[in-house]
Amino acid sequence: MLSYEFDSHPEWRGRLSKTSVPLSVKYDDFLSHVLDSIIDGHRVNREIGAQLHHHGNLTGISALADMIKRARFGGNVFFNVNLHVNPTNICTLACRFCAFRRGSRSEEAYSLTAEDFVSRIDPYSDIIDEVHAVGGLHPSWTVENYCKMYQHSKNKYPHISIKSLTAVEVKHIATRSGLSILETLRILHRSGLDSIPGGGAEILVDSVRDRICRGKEKSAEYLEIHQIAHTLGIPTNCTMLFGTLETPEDRILHLHKLRNQQDASGGFQCFVPYPFLEDNSRLPEAKIASASDVIRVIAISRIMLDNIPHIKAYRMNIGDHLSAIAINSGADDIDGTVGHEEIMHDAGSTTRVDYDSNQLSTLIESAGLTPVKRNSTYSSYAIHNSTPFNQNLRLPMAGQ
Ligand code: SF4
Repeated sequence: MLSYEFDSHPEWRGRLSKTSVPLSVKYDDFLSHVLDSIIDGHRVNREIGAQLHHHGNLTGISALADMIKRARFGGNVFFNVNLHVNPTNICTLACRFCAFRRGSRSEEAYSLTAEDFVSRIDPYSDIIDEVHAVGGLHPSWTVENYCKMYQHSKNKYPHISIKSLTAVEVKHIATRSGLSILETLRILHRSGLDSIPGGGAEILVDSVRDRICRGKEKSAEYLEIHQIAHTLGIPTNCTMLFGTLETPEDRILHLHKLRNQQDASGGFQCFVPYPFLEDNSRLPEAKIASASDVIRVIAISRIMLDNIPHIKAYRMNIGDHLSAIAINSGADDIDGTVGHEEIMHDAGSTTRVDYDSNQLSTLIESAGLTPVKRNSTYSSYAIHNSTPFNQNLRLPMAGQ
């Protein structure tokens, strides 16, 4: 693979100052003030973040986020070729937004052995470079179960990077194994854990967490677990689940906490915001994010998170059509080839999981951007032009 250096331009603010300003920003006093203040090196604080959330000019907010994205990465949009494997759906918790978990006596409960885990990878081993593995909190699994899975995978497929475990899984494994978080992560890292995907942040506001995922780690614990991973040299992503019971101010506080954590420990590679999908869950009072909310949150994330390099359009959750808009509204990364996915599809996602690199590239090119295939840890890149294929992408029409 021909490698390029595509890291975020450290001098992006200088490049931003030379970018031509779209009319939707230029003739909006508030947005042009925000732009000037960013160019001058200031951060968007919580108050301005909340004002952005309530500001009516969504086109201008998207355009401002796109300017920042382009100042960092030009017209490039990143993706990788990965596979999702969920080791178990058995979970001791029952988060109200979760359609994936099962009790251990459920007929639909399953737990993969290390051999099963590798056999899920077998059909894709020649084409993927990452396995994304998250699941439930199994009542009897300890660190050894995960070490076995990772070691089996690494023995057979040393080239495949293992991105695995949410913070609450790490906490659960540590408790079950009688180990500290630090020791647990150290052991898992030695057994093949390469990075941590960031799921489970939900909203980092404990009063909301208590209502949607009681029993999960507290906000401070989520951040601390990621901090410990960063200390050990394990890169992580971070996420936000929105459209449950949180307010716009809660979302802004969430971004603020992630930015502070990144200042302190510096290991977040990518931020992945995604809306709650309501099918098959137990949260009837959820506020449900609209398509406009999704684009607004992605754009504000790019504007506020000046120290997290990448913002991802999580295709498995928001679908291909919104993803195509998101990559022109601040997102520079799009979810990969995936191969198989349960968590979002159990909750109602209908996004296709059988895309290959050419299909993803076509999606990115159709948005007027350049597809760049990356590896799991954003250290190797190659432009990937699509070859024509019958994509058959159609917008859903009324009555269909
Ligand atoms: S979100 Fe995770 S921790 Fe919560 S019930 Fe689902 S699988 Fe369990």
